[in-house]
Amino acid sequence: MRPRSEAAPPYPDTFYSRTLSDTRARPALVGRVAVDVAVVGGGFAGLFAALDLARGGMRVAVIESQAVGWGASGRNGGFVSDGFACGPAAIRRHVGRDHADALQALSAEGVAIMRHEIATLDIPGADPVAGILRLRRHDRADDLRAASTPDTPYLDQPAIRRHLETVRYRHGIAEPAAFHIHPLNTLRGLAAEVERLGGLIVEQSPVIGADLTAARKTLTTPQGRVEAPRVVFATGGYTGPLIPRLRRAILPIATYVMVSETAPDLLAQAIRTRMAVGDDRRAGDYYRLVQGGARLLWGGRITTRAARPAGIARELRAEMLGVYPQLAALRTDLVWSGLMAYARHRMPQIGLLQPDVWHVTGFGGHGLNTTAIGGRVVAEAILGTSDRIALFAPFGLDWAGGGAGLAAAQATYWALQVQDWWRERQAA
Ligand SMILES: Cc1cc2nc3c(=O)[nH]c(=O)nc-3n(C[C@H](O)[C@H](O)[C@H](O)COP(=O)(O)OP(=O)(O)OC[C@H]3O[C@@H](n4cnc5c(N)ncnc54)[C@H](O)[C@@H]3O)c2cc1C
Repeated sequence: MRPRSEAAPPYPDTFYSRTLSDTRARPALVGRVAVDVAVVGGGFAGLFAALDLARGGMRVAVIESQAVGWGASGRNGGFVSDGFACGPAAIRRHVGRDHADALQALSAEGVAIMRHEIATLDIPGADPVAGILRLRRHDRADDLRAASTPDTPYLDQPAIRRHLETVRYRHGIAEPAAFHIHPLNTLRGLAAEVERLGGLIVEQSPVIGADLTAARKTLTTPQGRVEAPRVVFATGGYTGPLIPRLRRAILPIATYVMVSETAPDLLAQAIRTRMAVGDDRRAGDYYRLVQGGARLLWGGRITTRAARPAGIARELRAEMLGVYPQLAALRTDLVWSGLMAYARHRMPQIGLLQPDVWHVTGFGGHGLNTTAIGGRVVAEAILGTSDRIALFAPFGLDWAGGGAGLAAAQATYWALQVQDWWRERQAA
């Protein structure tokens, strides 16, 4: 892990920004540019859309207020698995079984897109590692046994303990087809490919004005403007007041990650697998070894107001020591937070704001597969090659509830933490 460099793009100080495989900063937009499609936001959603549009022959510009991957896309846990932030039962209740199955297939296609791009573009430093273990602390497992398949086998405690030196987990499922990545390097690899295909990416260029009334729409940045007949908004949890309808439709929710010092021998006393681990509690944590097993990256907690990372790091550390007391001597090197965009229905919001203006946002805490397919279906709609975007139509831009919505989200999270504690206490 390199020390923080002044010349690098203006990323927050994270494990990912300290292990960039390329440190090139892109210029800000100066003057006027005309393209076929303007994409606002250089996270995974914006870049996946831009990539498919460029492959489809469109001239595309991605306008990013900070640096590509500066938002949630460059700071997350790196877990890539199928599904959505909203659970399958709630999706089925909302749209029925067939429609829910079609959405689930799209979410799995999102995993395949991420895997395919990393492999075919040979993205430097993407570091994909196969396998996620979904583990459970309390003592009910009939649903896990019923859901297990030859591809996703059920794990009992002895099977789990072959990988992890802890008695905390009683049951689990292995997902060998899921994987984990270095998200920032991956995203920078996608950005490089967009540019190779002729796309323009500008950084340090917040869109501060948007005239979407004319056929030729205009987006204004501090030093320039982009004109395009079509616009895609992909601004995630960092969506500002520019488009009030979009801002009101999401709740920006903060979540946290910490990374340990380099301590491969100590970590090997606790974790003997390179698979990532997700704790399936309602308010669960997740973790994985990074840098070839030298460091532990541990994420969890949500807050609806920016909390002091040092306080959160103490909570995450207490959680970690509850699972692995043998890591008491492990020091934390860095802790950071990022904002996720949650819709009230917890599904992505992918569709038309008005003719020729699309939005692709609301991926919550499950964005690494869903941004890939979200970007793809928007690109297909613009290129006219499919109307798969219609599958997301039932999940619109409902008002997310503003301050009351945030308070309700925080209260729900705390209630889930209490439920987890109660269930584990009963099982103990
Ligand atoms: C700490 C953390 C851990 C997570 N872990 C996982 C995980 O392990 N697996 C998983 O699947 N998901 C995870 N997620 C969720 C996932 O990271 C997000 O769902 C996903 O990255 C969202 O991508 P996005 O492109 O929609 O938004 P972002 O990546 O946030 O990108 C939005 C971009 O828009 C830019 N922007 C905003 N307004 C403007 C403007 N006016 N002009 C120009 N640019 C603008 C921002 O600067 C930002 O770069 C996690 C999220 C966080 C925060």
